[in-house]
Amino acid sequence: MAPTLFISDLHLSKERPALVEAFEALTRGPARGAAAVYAIGDLFDTWVGDDQLRQPLAARVAAAFAALAASGSRIYFQRGNRDFVLGERFAAAAGGTLLPDEVVHDLYGTPTLIMHGDQLCTDDVDYQRFRAYWRDPVHQRRTLALPYFVRQGLALLFRAMSRRATADKPPVIMDVNAKAVAEAMRRHGVRRLIHGHTHRPARHELVVDGRACERYVLADWYKSASHLRVDAAGVTPCGFEFAP
Ligand code: MN
Repeated sequence: MAPTLFISDLHLSKERPALVEAFEALTRGPARGAAAVYAIGDLFDTWVGDDQLRQPLAARVAAAFAALAASGSRIYFQRGNRDFVLGERFAAAAGGTLLPDEVVHDLYGTPTLIMHGDQLCTDDVDYQRFRAYWRDPVHQRRTLALPYFVRQGLALLFRAMSRRATADKPPVIMDVNAKAVAEAMRRHGVRRLIHGHTHRPARHELVVDGRACERYVLADWYKSASHLRVDAAGVTPCGFEFAP
């Protein structure tokens, strides 16, 4: 049976051409023939609105996904914290479907909760406040109505703010909160969770309401084209190295 691939935290940007090439290599290689490919957040280092599709990098990424879709794979997207205004227009151009922030899909008989993972980092109160503000549809509509260059300026400002804030925060605050994980799994009635965001790839075992559960964390793409391969046998971390 054809596998399903998960990727996240690629942080694609025109400053890192080798990374973009590694992504294209994934879509031509390991992802070919996949039943589905899920890109679950922070695909792009910055996304200021779907009119970013006019930029060569964005158009290239959409085209690579669209080619994969044309070859028969279903493509799904979730928003991350870097690309939280990724929209329907991008998804359509990439031949895929934009998913809600939390979704349960049945993967080979196992209901699996899929999310970027930033919403699980509840110890980071400042970030959650920022997230709540910018995920508000009214604020988003107002911001997306600003000229493209103004939104680009805002994105640069957010990145600088985030770099300063994360430099000051103890690493444990930027990991997921165990209670938030258990609550999410309870709320959705699942025993398997796949997320990214923390850049701490792992398989965690946990017990929620007496039930054995598992949580898979995706790796970033700093040096390796990392992905999780899911099939009837389970979940396998995969990847290939590239020169950053
Ligand atoms: Mn993230």
